[in-house]
Amino acid sequence: MEKLKILEGRRGQVFEKGKDAFKLNCGVKSTSGAVSQRACVFCGSRVVLYPITDALHLVHGPIGCAAYTWDIRGSMSSGPVINRHSFSTDLREIDVIYGGAEKLYKAASQLIDKHKPEAAFIYSTCIVGLIGDDVEAVCKKLSEEKKIPVINVDSAGFKGTKKDGYKAACESIAKLVGTGDISMIAPYSINILGEFNLAGEAWIIKDYYTRMGVNVNAVITGDGRVADLKRAHGAALNVVQCAGSMTYLAEIMKKKYNIPFIRVSYFGLDDMTSALYDVAAFFEKNPEINERAGMVVKDEMDAIMPGLLRYRKALSGKKAALYVGGAFKAFSLIKALRVLGMDVVLAGSQTGNKEDYEDLKKICDDGAIIIDDANPQELSRYITEKKADVLIGGVKERPIAYKIGIGFCDHNHERKIPLAGYAGMLNFAGEVYSSVMSPVWKLVLRNDTFGQKRSRP
Ligand code: SF4
Repeated sequence: MEKLKILEGRRGQVFEKGKDAFKLNCGVKSTSGAVSQRACVFCGSRVVLYPITDALHLVHGPIGCAAYTWDIRGSMSSGPVINRHSFSTDLREIDVIYGGAEKLYKAASQLIDKHKPEAAFIYSTCIVGLIGDDVEAVCKKLSEEKKIPVINVDSAGFKGTKKDGYKAACESIAKLVGTGDISMIAPYSINILGEFNLAGEAWIIKDYYTRMGVNVNAVITGDGRVADLKRAHGAALNVVQCAGSMTYLAEIMKKKYNIPFIRVSYFGLDDMTSALYDVAAFFEKNPEINERAGMVVKDEMDAIMPGLLRYRKALSGKKAALYVGGAFKAFSLIKALRVLGMDVVLAGSQTGNKEDYEDLKKICDDGAIIIDDANPQELSRYITEKKADVLIGGVKERPIAYKIGIGFCDHNHERKIPLAGYAGMLNFAGEVYSSVMSPVWKLVLRNDTFGQKRSRP
């Protein structure tokens, strides 16, 4: 049977370790016709800003943009939930012809009066980028009239990649940072950047740091509040969890407020432990923080190890494929899957950069596929060829796994179970176990990339 060919324009974005010369092309716009799994610039900005719960999020564009990203992050809130609405100006043909600025002004004005948010984010989507509404002027007028920050998120979908949306979101947050009172912030304070509290993870991580004696000043943007963002420049350290989305903001804050930053990950045992000890090392003048970090690690590990070992016994030797947003998460997942005795046969990302992929190459075993900005056909082909038992990805990858006839684990925006921290590692192992070992796979024939039946697992 003929193998599915890689599109000519994508040849540089797929690599097999140990076989191909590694010179991965990344950070480029998606190839036309490739049906990328990657989201647009607007979506990138929305996923970062959406968890700011007491802000108004108004999508200036056709209704489809708002529907596509409605409730895109299942981010949990401990208070306000204004963010859960998907407000849109619902631009029509008549607005495209005559301009939509007036419609935007009226919609935003009414919504601010009704919901009384602490700030408003106005997302400019593709159509607005094309017709050229002066969104900046509308935001300025509304800020003056309503006495709250009204911020234009310049995020027309066609302007670049999802990563450009992250950048637009960071620029929007940077407009709030530095405008609040920092006089009461404790000396051992950190901001967590790029933790979105999808299923309550921010609360788990905050609890670890609090037990260490470290104050979490702001989580940007999980369970976010405008007031916390305004005071974020008062922290001693920025701890960047999602490097792809938040390094840019950390760099802005370093330049503007001289706040250093470190990169961490809260997924998997090794990286979670390093995240606690790295923060303790930063506050080395207070050795008690390091001691308390050790206690947190011991207590948490003791609690999960028996369960983890049971899952490991069942999953050892099984194969996993990963396709995630940022490459930094892929490193943690590879390590976490190794703890479970599993092999990673494919690792891909939507927004990795050259250094990320170099690091992925080092950490992956020979024969593993490394892939940038994949499309469904490529994922199907390599998952089938490499005989993966489970695909770990986001909502767009779920149908791919089920069509092939393998397990799926949601490690993205839509999940409802916390996967970060020590308790999260146990949940992750449980999710993978349930999916891989489900008896349903005994009843299905696995498909190849052309839909022909192959074999039972
Ligand atoms: S911003 Fe553009 S690419 Fe993104 S959802 Fe809207 S129309 Fe589609």
